[in-house]
Amino acid sequence: MLQRIALGTLVVALSLILTDWVFSLDAPGVKKRGVVELTARALAIHRKALVVDGHNDLPWQYREKKDLSFRTIDITKPQPELHTDIPRLRKGGVGAQFWSAYVPASDGKKGIAVRETLEQIDVIHRMVKRYPDVFAMAATADEVVQIHKEGKIASLIGVEGGHSIDNSLGVLRTYYTLGVRYMTLTHSETLDWADSATDTPRHKGLTAFGEQVVLEMNRLGMLVDISHVSADTMRHVLRVTRAPVIASHSSAYALAAHPRNVPDDVLRELKKNGGVVMVNFFSGFVVPESARAMKDMFAEMRRLQAKYPDEKDFQAAMKEWKKEHPIPTGTIHDVVDHIEHIIKIAGVDHVGLGSDYDGIMVTPKQLEDVSCYPYITQELLNRGYTREEIHKILGGNVLRVLRRAEEVARGTRK
Ligand SMILES: [Zn+2]
Repeated sequence: MLQRIALGTLVVALSLILTDWVFSLDAPGVKKRGVVELTARALAIHRKALVVDGHNDLPWQYREKKDLSFRTIDITKPQPELHTDIPRLRKGGVGAQFWSAYVPASDGKKGIAVRETLEQIDVIHRMVKRYPDVFAMAATADEVVQIHKEGKIASLIGVEGGHSIDNSLGVLRTYYTLGVRYMTLTHSETLDWADSATDTPRHKGLTAFGEQVVLEMNRLGMLVDISHVSADTMRHVLRVTRAPVIASHSSAYALAAHPRNVPDDVLRELKKNGGVVMVNFFSGFVVPESARAMKDMFAEMRRLQAKYPDEKDFQAAMKEWKKEHPIPTGTIHDVVDHIEHIIKIAGVDHVGLGSDYDGIMVTPKQLEDVSCYPYITQELLNRGYTREEIHKILGGNVLRVLRRAEEVARGTRK
């Protein structure tokens, strides 16, 4: 066994050397794919940026590890089991974070999604209050800028999946009151009113109620998030929304054919809409061969959920499945390829970052955790982007979208 591993490691090492060698030839059009080295210039550009990340699942980790009272996870100290802690957020230069108030779609079916979502919103508020020198809640784009100026990390809430509103606009409005500033329309499963990318479509996008949800979000000034929805739902949303939309953690379908990624025709519509796709770092959504392998994951998730009604048994089975289906991790270059593709199709004003840290199990090399954002700045600089363009990608674009959504809400609110 050991020998086989050693041989495998040797083959991988050799192929890496060869890959580096091939890509380091300075032929025109051939990109260098080696290790990204941080320079003082990139760090200076990064420090001046307002880095906004669209999706972080740390709140779910508190629930998973049964620590909604913060007894065991102290993020003031390094948390090697997690992608996120305060020292690494600081090192990564994070200026604002949308924290995800995620609960599984299966909770919707059990009728407990609203309660659990409220608990996740509560844990975000309590986390922010627990570390007042580090975090502050932001309700508007202006507040994000102000909090960043004070040297703190502006914290916003995103609800991940329309199952969390239990078909109620009243619940949606209550979430807004509690500080929620985006809602992903679906998670992994198709709802009564919207099709998911990873389930059987039933509505060719949205139902009439689904359209109402979008318009109510526009009226409130809550961003409509098209991550996780089917491509038809994305198209449908772009036909009805009055405000620019976001994909809080999605990558480009043309590069990695996972149904959760955004196809080129949607990117073109998104450009007209003024919205932004915030690129997901998960290897399974950015590395082409990993995306192919991951296509089955959500189907497998549903199969195992039906087989194991007990959450613990299901989680154990899922863990086993993931172990049996390892995927290539890729590197930071794969993620920057997605950023560049979105720029090529939609323009530099329509791309951002939505890491999905602490919600993903495999990360590309040099994007292992929240300390790694400066490497993106460096690689964008290496690929010829200007300081102004880099600042837009790191956070300027999504702030513009949030501000515009606020203006639309002011204009449409009676
Ligand atoms: Zn997600």
